Amino acid sequence: MNLILLGPPGAGKGTQAKRLMDRYGIAQISTGDMLRAEVAAGSPTGREAKAVMESGALVSDDIIIRMLGARIDAPDCAKGFILDGFPRTVPQAEALDRLLADKKLNLDAVIALAVDDAALIERISGRFTCKSCGAGYHDRFQPTRVAGLCDACGGREFVRRPDDNRATVTARLDAYHRQTAPILPYYQAQGRFFTVDGMAGIDEVSRQIEAVLAPLGKG
Ligand code: AMP
Repeated sequence: MNLILLGPPGAGKGTQAKRLMDRYGIAQISTGDMLRAEVAAGSPTGREAKAVMESGALVSDDIIIRMLGARIDAPDCAKGFILDGFPRTVPQAEALDRLLADKKLNLDAVIALAVDDAALIERISGRFTCKSCGAGYHDRFQPTRVAGLCDACGGREFVRRPDDNRATVTARLDAYHRQTAPILPYYQAQGRFFTVDGMAGIDEVSRQIEAVLAPLGKG
């Protein structure tokens, strides 16, 4: 099963992608995570992307498309994938269509998470992840059960993304509205496009996604 999760930063794409990955045994492909790994490794791609990411702007389509093309061939994508944070521009969406056609793959569904901008700033500013297992939390909306201890692995170290601050979030939302929102009509026109209420709680959003996938024979 091949899915795209669309929505502005902080809409919950990563959280839902991880749930879908566990449930269906398909790979989560987050171009943001891939870029952060490149930055951490200090690779040429990482060095090129770092300042752009810190400003909240989008990394060039060329870099992203090259990265994505290689990623889809990895063995963990054999049963399918969830694209999280890609495509983010119309040229990326077009490149994805060509890539899928080349590989004789189809998209089963494009699911957009609808959220208010005002809520996003609060959501993004409070989020953090476990340094060892990557489990995601939020200061207000999803704290760890025991303070300072990861629910999933018991880890004690947590990280916050450098671009999860108010100023950068505003720039990221602006990039979303100017460059990413235009791909919504692109997918609406192709069919298999669904919108779920990203303002609902995490479990309710998962239920709405399941309700989209069930009639496609994927539930
Ligand atoms: P994310 O983790 O998806 O919020 O992405 C973090 C940052 O990585 C974004 O603000 C962009 O600078 C960059 N990025 C991630 N995915 C893409 C993409 N598909 N196209 C361009 N830039 C991206």
